[in-house]
Order: sequence, then structure tokens, then C-alpha cells
Amino acid sequence: MERVLDDIRHLAGEIGPRPGTSDAYAEAADWAAERFTELGYTVDRQQVDVPAGTSWGIRVRAGRTPNIIASPPGFDDEAPHRIVGAHLDTVPQAPGAEDNASGIAVMLELARVHAQSEYPVRFIAFTSEEPRGPGDNLHHFGSRAYVERLDDPERDAMRAMVSLDRVGARGAAVPLCTGGTGTDRVRGRLSALARGVDVPTRLCDDNRASDHWSFERGKLPSARVGSVPYAAYHSARDVPKVVDERQLSRVGTIMSAWLERAG
Ligand SMILES: [Zn+2]
Repeated sequence: MERVLDDIRHLAGEIGPRPGTSDAYAEAADWAAERFTELGYTVDRQQVDVPAGTSWGIRVRAGRTPNIIASPPGFDDEAPHRIVGAHLDTVPQAPGAEDNASGIAVMLELARVHAQSEYPVRFIAFTSEEPRGPGDNLHHFGSRAYVERLDDPERDAMRAMVSLDRVGARGAAVPLCTGGTGTDRVRGRLSALARGVDVPTRLCDDNRASDHWSFERGKLPSARVGSVPYAAYHSARDVPKVVDERQLSRVGTIMSAWLERAG
């Protein structure tokens, strides 16, 4: 847990607000790439062109910004695999401890623990999830680019994607969500495993506000973990003290159970 909290403090406390096309995002991306490399993963930077726009009321510039893709040694993207993703960017006014240093920090811990997993998993820190305007095509830029660039063999091999997004706010249960238009197989699996490890969950079917939605729109099986409402959302008050250790560890427990078994 101390590593997870340290990572949240680094992103939200030291780097701070990091819209996808900002210098702070570039610093966060370098940091994430270095962390994955230290854990033994092969890191690819997938560059994404993102337009200028208005993000939560503040102008943001256009730019080219990377997804950080971490694959274990020997990874074959045309062989069965799963994806765990979390967005690394924030809206301009928020240091983003909960949204979404929490998801990145839990993802890095999973990458550490499951580095030798017999079931291949690719970890991705997505750029520019946060909106740059209204509508469904002005957010989730990094994950949409990832899905759009998959060829048919890669699509067939990609068995499941989970987005970890806002996984640390205190709550009675861990939200397990889909956008409600595709398969709920991934969520069903997470829900069954959560029961087995005594973690309370809450299901929702109308969540299109994270990177799982890019996969669902692309007809690929996915789910989101997280989204407990909290007062500091998209504000300067989204600082490390808003995250709750118990909620973070519940999410880690569910995801470890998922990664330890065949998808
Ligand atoms: Zn988020």
C-alpha cells in the first residue's frame, strides 16, 4: 500500500495537473514509462494527435501525446491477452489524486505483482481521457486511438479490457460498470471473483465516462472499475488525502484475483 500511496503523492502532489498536451503530462508519461521499464516490461509510446479545446471550462492546447503501453517479455499481441488501462491525464484545474492517480498507482502495483503472470496482460497508461469539448468524440482520445489502430488478429486476441478510473474514493462498495451496449462478460467475471474474496461491489450499466467505453464502442469486451462520487471531483481539492486505503486495496484484491486466473 505504501508504494501505491507514494505514486499517488508523486503524480498529484509533485507533478500536479497534467492535461494530455501539457509539459506536466510529458513528465508523468516519462515517469510511468520508467516505472514499467524497471519492472521488466517493454514500453512503447503510441503517439496520439489531440485537438485544442475546452476542458472543464479551461482552454487546452493541441498536441501530440503518448499512450504508454507496457508489455511483458515475450508478449504476442496476436495471442490471447487482456488489457488493464488507466488514464494518466487530468483536467487543467485538478492535481488528480483520485482522478486518476489512484488508477495509475493501482495499475503499477498490479504490474509489479503480476510481472511473471502465466496469463498475458498488457498495461496501458492512456493519454487525454478527459474531455476537450462536448459529445462523445471529444474525450477518450488515447484509448480510441489504441482501439482504432488494432488490426483484426489483434482484435481477436484481445479478450478483455478493464479501465481503472477513480478507484480510491471512500465508498460502501466498488463500482463495476459497463456502458450498457455490449457484453457484460468482463464485469460478470469481476463481480463473481469479488464475491469470492469478500469485496462488496455495486453494478452499473450506464457508465460511458472512461476508457472502457472506447473498447465497448469498438465492439470489444470491457468494463470499468471505479467511479464513487466525491466532493473534490475535477477541482483543485483532488489531492492525495481524498483517497482511502481500504478502497484502493479492495480494487487491488479484485484485480489480482482476475489476473491470477485465466481470462
Ligand atoms: Zn478519470
